[in-house]
Amino acid sequence: MVGVNLKGSIFRRLADEEVVIPHLEQALYADNWPESYDIKVDLGRHTPPPAGEIGWFYPSTHCLMDQRRLYYEIHPEYRLLLPKEKFPMSSIMSMTMGTAAHAIIQTQLSMAGKIAGPEDIEVRFRNEERRCRGRLDWLFTRGNGTKIPVEMKTQNSRAYGQTKEILPSWECQLQVTMDGLGYEEGVLFLVEMGSPWQMREFRVKRDEKLLNVIYEKWATVLEMVKANTPPDHCCTNGSSDMDKCRAKSVCWLAEIPRQRTGE
Ligand code: SF4
Repeated sequence: MVGVNLKGSIFRRLADEEVVIPHLEQALYADNWPESYDIKVDLGRHTPPPAGEIGWFYPSTHCLMDQRRLYYEIHPEYRLLLPKEKFPMSSIMSMTMGTAAHAIIQTQLSMAGKIAGPEDIEVRFRNEERRCRGRLDWLFTRGNGTKIPVEMKTQNSRAYGQTKEILPSWECQLQVTMDGLGYEEGVLFLVEMGSPWQMREFRVKRDEKLLNVIYEKWATVLEMVKANTPPDHCCTNGSSDMDKCRAKSVCWLAEIPRQRTGE
């Protein structure tokens, strides 16, 4: 009975042109479980460049960031002064569970032959021209042997229910990653972290206009860093946006003594 439903479901999903989900369903129904899952925590994820060097742009966090904040994030001196971001316990647990979900799904797809090997997991790229680096969750091997990049995101049930479209930050991240790895098309794979564990795919095609907007912004910031001239402020002094910004101590707050003394 399960087999009949599964077959129907897989044909329907393949007809919908889903890439990952039908094969993941098939792998999970196959009842072929590994003895253990290897959950890798890559502490070298954001290894910074040596002191004195300009930092890198990361597609996961820097596509939508304002110019002035980006300036401080990559400036060779200021970036060393920025405090580490502190996350609440709920975010830390969500990130940890998300890492586990990535590992489980990557293992299942590898066992099903849809991820060719370890070299297709956490695929790194470095785009010197754009001063950008990052990595992709995995390359999925299609039936015809070609590969398609997949970026996976997890959400709790409430957020998942509210997500009808691909989020701009996800789309930008995948666009820059696809460009960095030389792909024209990719998949944003979304997983609900909780019952009923729904999954959804967004197919993303290369968007030249969007890439140009991101790259032009980064190029402008790079020029301003080299000229040691910060862009215009992107929040109001004393605002809640300023409170949340980890660059505030080198930005607005660094200006207060100068304003008081009239320097
Ligand atoms: S403190 Fe405000 S103006 Fe300065 S970088 Fe942060 S968000 Fe932008």
